[in-house]
Amino acid sequence: ILTIKNLTKKFGYLTAVKDLSFTINKGNVYGILGPNGSGKSTTLGIVLNVVNKTSGEFSWFNGSVSTHEALKKVGAIIENPNFYPYMTAYQNLKLVCKIKGVDYSKIDEKLAIVGLLERKDSKFSNYSLGMKQRLAIASALLNDPEILILDEPTNGLDPQGIHQIRTLIKKIASEGTTILLASHLLDEVEKVCSHVVVLRKGEKLYSGRVDEMISSHGFFELKSEQHEALASFLQ
Ligand code: ATP
Ligand code: MG
Repeated sequence: ILTIKNLTKKFGYLTAVKDLSFTINKGNVYGILGPNGSGKSTTLGIVLNVVNKTSGEFSWFNGSVSTHEALKKVGAIIENPNFYPYMTAYQNLKLVCKIKGVDYSKIDEKLAIVGLLERKDSKFSNYSLGMKQRLAIASALLNDPEILILDEPTNGLDPQGIHQIRTLIKKIASEGTTILLASHLLDEVEKVCSHVVVLRKGEKLYSGRVDEMISSHGFFELKSEQHEALASFLQ
């Protein structure tokens, strides 16, 4: 679905993403794992065309279509969900449908997936944080994307909200949508993702299957300096 090759992003003297390469294949749940400032959001921003790369390449769907066309098949939540507080969830999604050119019939279907169908006539301002995040996911799913991109999807939620979002992500993935999420929590990646790219200071420390990383299989193939950094992260 997505190939990233030797991607680099500099902000002045700071290299936020350094020579990063990885591939996202269909049907998996990928995590980009790394501490604050490791370049997760920058990487997502670049492939979503909201941040300009400094060098390197990325291509969607094997380069078969332009990035602009490709992004129509991508759903993404990369910042706080932005809805109208005094409108209901349903009304908010109607507006998104209008903007995206999606049929209104999709609204109930997506609200049902995220478990908000019964609350569709409640005002957005009356939603809990977890419900707001689930509404954002419903919104991102309206155009039936092939891949859903989520930046720190459980940040700020209480344990119940976190559990609901993680369960929802797994459900969406099991129904065939590829997922790419950024997280600074190993726990989250362990619970939700099949594959992971671990970043530190913009550099890739590991990429591969999560179970293999944890069973420290791929782990020992790392250079010792990388090994140490990953070990400290896995503690
Ligand atoms: P977090 O876990 O805090 O969300 P992150 O892994 O998403 O972190 P990024 O937001 O990608 O990290 O930031 C990577 C580095 O680039 C950080 O040092 C950050 O300060 C810097 N950075 C990001 N955006 C900009 C910008 N617009 N201008 C200057 N520096 C930036
Ligand atoms: Mg970030």
